[in-house]
Amino acid sequence: MIRTFKRPIKRVVIKVGSSVIADYTLKARSAQLRSLVGQMSALNQQGIEVILVSSGAIVLGMGELGLKTRPSDLASLQALAAVGQTVLMKTYSVFFKKTDTKCAQVLLTWEDFDSRNRYNNASHTLKAILAHKVIPIINENDTISTDEIKFGDNDKLSALVAGLVHADLLILLSDVKGLYEKRDGKTQYFTEVKEINADIQGMATGSVNANISKGGMAAKLAAIKIATHANIPCVIASGSTKNVLADVINGQPVGTFFFSKEDKTLARRHWISFIAKPKGTITVDDGAVAALLTRGKSLLLPGVVKCEGHFKADDVVIIQDQHAGEIARGIVHYSVADILNISEKKGQHEVIHCDDLVLCKR
Ligand code: GLU
Repeated sequence: MIRTFKRPIKRVVIKVGSSVIADYTLKARSAQLRSLVGQMSALNQQGIEVILVSSGAIVLGMGELGLKTRPSDLASLQALAAVGQTVLMKTYSVFFKKTDTKCAQVLLTWEDFDSRNRYNNASHTLKAILAHKVIPIINENDTISTDEIKFGDNDKLSALVAGLVHADLLILLSDVKGLYEKRDGKTQYFTEVKEINADIQGMATGSVNANISKGGMAAKLAAIKIATHANIPCVIASGSTKNVLADVINGQPVGTFFFSKEDKTLARRHWISFIAKPKGTITVDDGAVAALLTRGKSLLLPGVVKCEGHFKADDVVIIQDQHAGEIARGIVHYSVADILNISEKKGQHEVIHCDDLVLCKR
């Protein structure tokens, strides 16, 4: 059975996990990486734009410094990432050079997705790199990322990147062949998943070699939810399957295919719902709840009961009813100080325009 994609695959994000990059001796799996780089270069030469999101900095840093076990404190992990990222990029650039393809390093933090300006800037930079037929190799900027500004894992990062560049497909390569369940002691792989419901979520088990990898299947499914909601289909496949990338792109039934959502969430709405971290909460009265939920109106100042947090104009905030139930998220026009200021003067000021509001599904 051949898979068909709703739109032709012209731009693909490929996420390569740490277990694909390094073996249990914490050294690069050179033969596997050479093969994947060859496959990516071939796609690039066929005119398919490839964006690579690669983990592996920390594990290669451990290998480089001769550490046997992964430390748990942030500073040590940041130091290892600093060491390992250069090993990672050197490995990639040597292999890409052999295939006459150029690559570029892009290190991102959560803040690049959290501010609309930086989000647009990152998108322009990546598109400019692709315009030169260069393959961007993205990783989290682990060396400066603290807990507050961390993505958490590269599965999520790859889903956000896929949304950022409007990719046609996201491929997550790891050491498993796809989503599977164990039945009567047998492993059964899913070839496709229409919707990530509670049953599918329940299959997100399986061991993770915590010395090498982060996240596991649960992180992959969470990332796939983000990407499929941005109308991007996803495939989980094994990095060691021969010719995996071309086969996936040609619709061969390799790995597990996750269908994208029909109702395309617009980039802005996607950013408001999934990407930006809310900077505060606005509590609104019952009249405003009805105006927002049933009449599609903007949020006006008289409906605001209370503001919490330190938000500025253009930040994303949570809008809740008086029972603390979230009803929407939106981009606020005023800072918290401005709202308090104009409240004293009264008037029908528009605090959040209806086009900047995303209602929660109830
Ligand atoms: N950014 C981390 C690294 O390069 C990996 C995070 C992850 O695997 O999710 O080591």
